[in-house]
Parts: sequence; C-alpha cells; structure tokens
Amino acid sequence: MEIKLQPLNLPGVETKRPLIIAGPCSAETEEQVMTTATALAQRGIKVFRAGIWKPRTKPGGFEGVGAEGLPWLQRVKRELGMLVSTEVATPRHVEAALGADVDLLWIGARTVANPFAMQELADALRGADVPVLVKNPVNPDIELWIGGLERIHGAGIGRLGVIHRGFSSYDKRIYRNLPMWHIPIELRRRIPGLPIICDPSHIGGRRELIAPLCQQAMDLGFEGLIVESHCTPDCAWSDAAQQVTPDVLDFILDKLVVRDAALTTESISQLRQQIDECDNALIELLARRMRISREIGQYKKEHNMTVVQTSRYNEILDKRSAQGVLCGMSESFMKTVFEAIHEESIHQQFDIYSK
Ligand code: PEP
Ligand code: MN
Repeated sequence: MEIKLQPLNLPGVETKRPLIIAGPCSAETEEQVMTTATALAQRGIKVFRAGIWKPRTKPGGFEGVGAEGLPWLQRVKRELGMLVSTEVATPRHVEAALGADVDLLWIGARTVANPFAMQELADALRGADVPVLVKNPVNPDIELWIGGLERIHGAGIGRLGVIHRGFSSYDKRIYRNLPMWHIPIELRRRIPGLPIICDPSHIGGRRELIAPLCQQAMDLGFEGLIVESHCTPDCAWSDAAQQVTPDVLDFILDKLVVRDAALTTESISQLRQQIDECDNALIELLARRMRISREIGQYKKEHNMTVVQTSRYNEILDKRSAQGVLCGMSESFMKTVFEAIHEESIHQQFDIYSK
C-alpha cells in the first residue's frame, strides 16, 4: 500500500531540522507540568510532550493521571503558546485527546506491536485532522511498523511521522532498548520523506546517553528528537533515570552539530564512484566463488560426499576472520560475512544435489 505523506505542518514551528519535542515522561501534577513546560518554553522549545496514560510493564506502577491531566496540557497551550502532544493507546484516549485539542498524538511501542489495537486506533482517528507519530514496535519488525503506519494512513491521516525508540532486548548492558539504526534507515528507504524523530530517552534509559544518541540521530539525518525532560528528574514518577532538566536539555541541544542531509559534493561523488566499483568487483568475485562452489557440489554428489564438511567450514571461518582482522575489520564482521557466503554456497550445492 502506498503511503502518501503530507507535511506535519505544526503551526508556529519552524520546518528546519531538528524538530524538538520535549517534556516529562508523564504528567504528574499540574505544578510539575507547568514548571517543566515554562522552563522549556523559556529555552525555545515549541512542542511539549507528557504522557497522560502510561503503559507500564508491570501492574502497580504509576499508570498516568488520565483525563484529569488534559486541562493541564490546555493550560500549557494557552499560557505558554506551546503545542502539546501525548500518547494514545485506545479509542477512548483518542476521543479525549482530540476533545482537549491536543496538537500531536503519538502511538506507543507496545501498542504498535498489536495490529488489533492499531486498527481500533485508526478507526477512532478517521476524519480527524491531527498529525500522528507512530513509534517503532517493541520488537525489531519493520513490516509490523509499516503495517501500523498503513492502518493509520488508511484512516485518512496524511500528517504522519515515526518515532525511533529502540527495540526491546534481554541484554540491557548499554541501552535500555537497542537502537538498531539500520531499521529506521531501511524504513526511510521504503517510505521516502517519512519524518523520523529519534527518542534517545527510551533508547538510552539513562541520562548520560542522551547527548551522544541525539548527535547520532542528527548524523544520520533524522528530522527530529523527542526527549524526556522533567523539572526535577530524580523525583519523576516514571522513567526517572533517563530524564534531564530543561537546562541540561538546552545544553545538549546547544552542542548538537546538525549536519546537512541533502548536501553532496564533487569529492564525495568521486569517492562514491570508487565504492560502486568495489561493489561491482565484489559481486563478480562472489559469483565466481559460487560457480566454483557448484562445481564442488557436483563432485561431492558424484563421490557420495555430504554437502557440509565441518572441519573445512571451521578452517574457512577461522582463517578468513584472522586475515580480516589483520586488514582492520572486526572478527564478528568477518564471521557474519563468511557465514552468509557459506550459507549461499550450501543453497547452491543443494540445488545441484536435487537435480
Ligand atoms: C513514552 O514515550 O513515554 C513511552 C511510554 O514510550 P514507549 O512507547 O517508546 O515505551
Ligand atoms: Mn517514558
């Protein structure tokens, strides 16, 4: 299904990169919302975020203040002139948020992982003129992410964007959610022009990672950042470890180097031409290797030998990895490449065996 995008078109917000959305993980009290939003507005932030309904992993945590917090967002709009945004997870949330004139909605990672929930949200959004940001699903499934976008788009929402918030994993040594940057990059290739907003707070899970993640998102040419910011982060009722004060956010944004996503120069074109030539040579070499592989397959078949001989496979993996390391590549990269080549080789030989 083709997705026809319209610009997000946020009134009063400059279209130049990066679009910044900031605010607390959750709206907790009217005072916390107003204090945080005032400090952000003073630092030039135009779009405020605050979760009103919070999906929590386990029961018993703070699940958001609910509709009671919507008038606080209306105060932020009225008194500070900011646009406001919140997460919607059910049709009831959509109805309440639209009724309170929330300017921008986002759909959370757990919701996007559920096609039934996405379809219900899409049905509830039909006919609304509101920009919607679809977070990546918790699992690294690009088709599910695109499917969610298609459902929302199918309900007539053209002002669409995505939030890259990283992917759940058992290993939380560095990141709370693995960035797996290649997934949003592939999404942009599949849906050109789709605005990608990076959420360093949920990727990082801790304050120290916010600045480097923001910079990486800019280095990749993403359109914006959604950052959790709280007037007193250590006292936050949810996601305390990853929130930064408006002052720290201001400092991070000030240091950010925003690189040009469209710029190309003569020198880079020449270097890219050299890359193209290398890739062509690689493909030809791989094809030659596969032809030899097929010949070996023919020989093995005639001599009643098995397709894989583990000792030979181990020897290739070890030798090639060591050679690659000497040439400045990582061992894990070399293993990945040669495992893939070997797998294709086996397919080619299976083909010979089946004839
Ligand atoms: C959030 O943005 O506060 C949130 C709950 O995010 P996610 O859906 O990415 O976990
Ligand atoms: Mn949060």
